[in-house]
Amino acid sequence: MAHQESGSLTMPIDPQYETVIGLEVHSQLRTKSKIFCGCPNKFGAEANTQICPVCAGFPGVLPVMNREMVNMAIKTGLAINGQIRKLSVFPEELLLP
Ligand SMILES: [Zn+2]
Repeated sequence: MAHQESGSLTMPIDPQYETVIGLEVHSQLRTKSKIFCGCPNKFGAEANTQICPVCAGFPGVLPVMNREMVNMAIKTGLAINGQIRKLSVFPEELLLP
């Protein structure tokens, strides 16, 4: 096993593994409504005026993906020569608190 020095640290490198580094990029798209409900997405509005049971994460609600957001995200991905997945799955437990 080889060693690579990085500053004052020495880390073992196992040649059977390849280092793969991924990036997770977050952005804010200028949609008219929020990502999972029809509430307006207007910055600067009075507190608690742009909320519904879905975006509040109430039990039993059914989030629906914002089509405008999906189209904008795909266009952004294409503009940066990214790979667009044909299927994306969002587990509900990750969407709601
Ligand atoms: Zn909402």
